Amino acid sequence: MPMPPYPIYCYRKGCGKLAVYKIAARWSDGVTQELKTYALSCADCLPDWFRRSRVKQAACRLAPGETLESVGIYTLEPGRRDAEIHRLPELERQLSQES
Ligand SMILES: [Zn+2]
Repeated sequence: MPMPPYPIYCYRKGCGKLAVYKIAARWSDGVTQELKTYALSCADCLPDWFRRSRVKQAACRLAPGETLESVGIYTLEPGRRDAEIHRLPELERQLSQES
C-alpha cells in the first residue's frame, strides 16, 4: 500500500507536528509478510513511541510459524511503499541505550 500523498501527523494526541518516522516491525507467517506499524511519530515524540512500541511488542504472542523482527525505526517518506523505506539502525541503537 503506498503512503497517502497528504501530510501525516504524529500519533500523539495534541502533538500536531508532522510525522517523520514510522515505528514498525516486519511480521511474517512464512507465506505473507507485512510491516506492522506501531506508531507514526515526529522527532520529539520518537523516544517515547519507540519505548512504548517495544513494550507493546514484548506483550505480543506469536502463533506457531509466525516471525516478528525487532521494533525498527523507519523513515517516513510520503508516496513510498513499505518495501522502499529505509530502516535507521543507528537511531534504534541510540534510543535503546537511553531506555
Ligand atoms: Zn509528536
